[in-house]
Amino acid sequence: MNKELEVESRCIHLSEDDKQSRYGSISFPIYQTATFAHPGLGQSTGYDYSRVQNPTREHLEKVVASLENGIDAIAFSTGMAAITTVLDLFKPGDHIIADRDLYGGTTRLFNSICEKNLIEFTYIDFSTDNPADYLKSNTKAFFIETPTNPMMNITDIRWCADVAHENGAILIVDNTFMSPYLQNPLDLGADIVVHSGTKYLSGHNDTLAGFAIVKDEKLSEDLRYIYKTSGANLSPFDSWLVLRGIQTLAVRMDRAQENALELAKWLENRKGPVVRVVYPGLESHPGHELQLKQARGYGAMLTFEVDSYESVKHILENTRIIQYAESLGGTETLLTYPLTQTHADVDPKELEKNGITKGTLRMSVGIENIKDLIADLDQAIG
Ligand SMILES: *Cc1c(COP(=O)(O)O)cnc(C)c1O
Repeated sequence: MNKELEVESRCIHLSEDDKQSRYGSISFPIYQTATFAHPGLGQSTGYDYSRVQNPTREHLEKVVASLENGIDAIAFSTGMAAITTVLDLFKPGDHIIADRDLYGGTTRLFNSICEKNLIEFTYIDFSTDNPADYLKSNTKAFFIETPTNPMMNITDIRWCADVAHENGAILIVDNTFMSPYLQNPLDLGADIVVHSGTKYLSGHNDTLAGFAIVKDEKLSEDLRYIYKTSGANLSPFDSWLVLRGIQTLAVRMDRAQENALELAKWLENRKGPVVRVVYPGLESHPGHELQLKQARGYGAMLTFEVDSYESVKHILENTRIIQYAESLGGTETLLTYPLTQTHADVDPKELEKNGITKGTLRMSVGIENIKDLIADLDQAIG
């Protein structure tokens, strides 16, 4: 891996990249092929069939492995495909301790598919509860997000990894909200990092992708075996789109984060229906200090609460450049209503425990001019 370059440069260059073998082409070619001819009996070019490996996808995987300081990154068709494959490492009777405030689709996967396959879950708030109190003899993994979605709770990754390892379990971290530019859980002891590559890595809301990154040969082998068998691969063209998106990851994250901090401060001071702002960059956030201990920034996701459903409706119907849509991590600012969108399938009791109310709105802050964002939100709040 390309450790000698800084992260901004590693978004763009791999040191071992041999451009001569592809006529000096600056943009990595899209090898739009399902299969590869063998030079002779028992011989291979290194590629046999694109479900197993494809040069475009492999190049992307090397870039992502380098950004997360892993030995292997596997590129999936979606973030959920990556998480599903990681969960395929476990067998009936295994127990996993998971955060209570996860991406809604992950909770749905655990509840409806993994439980049917007899994997057991215990849900806790890793930012306040001690996972050691919930261990069972069959506990095999912890699954966390930090910051969590949408309540932005911050969990100490190194501490979680230590508790997991002392008890024979592994730590899996969904690092989507931070992106590898801001946080590298493998360096803090995590065993597997997953990403929805649909979000900051692609960065333009134009493709779906997912990643699982590891630093251990055995986990890499096990995941690759499931991957080539179940086949949720990223296509060559989508691999190329993600490669292109990653080239600007650092500058996009910097600008989006700058905007998010300004917006969070502005919202905190905005009179009217705004009752609470949750953003790790604010000093009022309980995880503010821990965040900077383990990450290089606060990210660009923020959550705020308004006083009523009527206020939510008013805001969502009146913004002009800020759009009401699911997803995050793109250049454009989006507002999400977790109750009916990302978290529609989560048990209402769980939502209440996590502090998600009728007035909770999540914002993925984009890279527009901050003055336009504030003006838009101001007139929409009314
Ligand atoms: C979007 C998202 C996922 C799922 O990823 P897809 O690419 O939509 O399948 C998983 N985790 C988090 C934190 C997400 O935001």
